[in-house]
Amino acid sequence: MKKKHPFILFFLFTLIISLSLITCTSKSPSEKYDVIIKNTKIVDGTDSAPYKGGIAIRGERIAAVGKVRGEAPTVIDGSGLITCPGFIDPHTHADNRIIRNPSAENFIMQGITTVVAGNCGNSWPQDENLSFDEWLSKLEETEKSINIAMLVGHGTVRGFVMGDDFKRHATQDEIEEMKKLIDSAMKNGAFGMSSGLDYYPGEYADTGEIIELAKVAAKYGGRYVTHLRHCNSHWPAIDQEEWGYGVYHGPVEDVWVGKYRGLMEAIEVSRKAKVQLHISHLNPVYRIPQPHPGFLDEAAAKATLWIIDRAREEGLDITFDLICATSGLTRMNELINEFIRSRTPSLSWLREIEKEEFINKLKTGEYKKKIKGLYLENRLKLGKIHTKADPYWIDRFKILECNNKDYEGKTIGELSIEKNTEPLDLIFEVLIEDPDTKWVQFLDERHFERADETLIQHPNASPCTDLSVFPPITEASGSMPAFAYGMFADFIGNFVRDKAIFSLEQAVRKASYLPARMLNLDDRGSLSSGYYADIVIFDLERIRNTGTFINPAQPPEGVEYVLVNGKIVYKDKAHTGEMPGKLLRHEN
Ligand SMILES: [Zn+2]
Repeated sequence: MKKKHPFILFFLFTLIISLSLITCTSKSPSEKYDVIIKNTKIVDGTDSAPYKGGIAIRGERIAAVGKVRGEAPTVIDGSGLITCPGFIDPHTHADNRIIRNPSAENFIMQGITTVVAGNCGNSWPQDENLSFDEWLSKLEETEKSINIAMLVGHGTVRGFVMGDDFKRHATQDEIEEMKKLIDSAMKNGAFGMSSGLDYYPGEYADTGEIIELAKVAAKYGGRYVTHLRHCNSHWPAIDQEEWGYGVYHGPVEDVWVGKYRGLMEAIEVSRKAKVQLHISHLNPVYRIPQPHPGFLDEAAAKATLWIIDRAREEGLDITFDLICATSGLTRMNELINEFIRSRTPSLSWLREIEKEEFINKLKTGEYKKKIKGLYLENRLKLGKIHTKADPYWIDRFKILECNNKDYEGKTIGELSIEKNTEPLDLIFEVLIEDPDTKWVQFLDERHFERADETLIQHPNASPCTDLSVFPPITEASGSMPAFAYGMFADFIGNFVRDKAIFSLEQAVRKASYLPARMLNLDDRGSLSSGYYADIVIFDLERIRNTGTFINPAQPPEGVEYVLVNGKIVYKDKAHTGEMPGKLLRHEN
């Protein structure tokens, strides 16, 4: 008997070890999770080939990926669907609107689970007079559906330090003051500093100021995120007080190269401040006179990437995003507002006039003559287009709603040929016929299809929306961009399925893993065990934006489920009411 004793002990010991190994290594049927996504095609964000499998979620995080066995109160059947990391939008203006619209439906519905805000130099709301850390706390306390990462805005900081006296270079003392504010923002979790060098008050900063301030962001491993100088300005100002979208304040002789210099300036900042650079809403920096063939847009895009790649070969870390919609941020507008509500300085004499009075004056011919005069003097801007800088402006505007149904869906150019009328006279005729006529600039002159397709293929390019937070679709009213609720749906649908410009895994990487690395988020942007469960489940065959300029607030087709931090925020084309979003803070 005594001899058997060690054998039994050994047997029991082996049994216990084997049992514990079985429960540790394989997910036995008794494994408990909160959510299981089964039978799905996994695209994990890292550019690896898609594979069949499941995902298990416990609490806020992914607990298992691949072969998943276990039980969960919520099981999602992912058959026929793609499951990938939630999209990260690197360029938004979600800032304060997220407080008013915390369900962030327009982002959630297109699969965006994290947004970066504080872009183009503009961060916390200045009218509330909060410090950056107070603003972050306010965002943190706000219950919201999406995760939000903040940049500290150079323009905001500059405005804080210089007040109304900003139309000059900053003094060294002022720069020191700004550095302190940026330092404190970075300590509190800003992901970098943004600049908007086309806007007040940022445009008055010289490169030296930007370099000094970017060094502070670099110290904390943050990025310099920039809306390039002259990115969208090419309409020389008559005097320095003239301000408006597209107005160029640089030297007039440089108007054609301003944008190019803007890119070179950003690279210089990256080099001298030793800061990682992220370029916002990139488009080609070479301006090409109209008319020109599409292959020149492609060439201009390639040449722009050539500059960026030379700088990367030098060792600089450069990423960028672009708005993947040829209409940019344009939206339906009342045609008459182009005149009587115009912010264009040359039309300020019209601003106080009411609709009826304007139409009456148009009928007498007095205003017609005056406005035509502006056009001839190169002073007329419509939408975002300077009518002289772009002789093809008539092809970029379309009538959407008018009493005269014959006009609807036609461009100004088409109508003007059809009616054998000069474009401006035609606009006046349309307005007299129906003062409530609505039109849209359906092409943003900075977005050309072939340029966008070239830029987005770059390995360091991510899609972005450049959008603010809009109300839930049930409450949405007024005009919005046509892709306000579905640009990322189109990004996948257009570039992967319809045009096959890149693979599904490349597209997913651009929209998740890449921006997560850009932000140094090491537990988001991929479907990996231990990562936060920010997930989108969609049908590649059906995914597409369904919004139009007339009805922009539509849920996109094909987006089936969106999860944020493990909670289902969107399913059956409706928001679930869950608010699991977090304020993200940069880990220094
Ligand atoms: Zn911008």
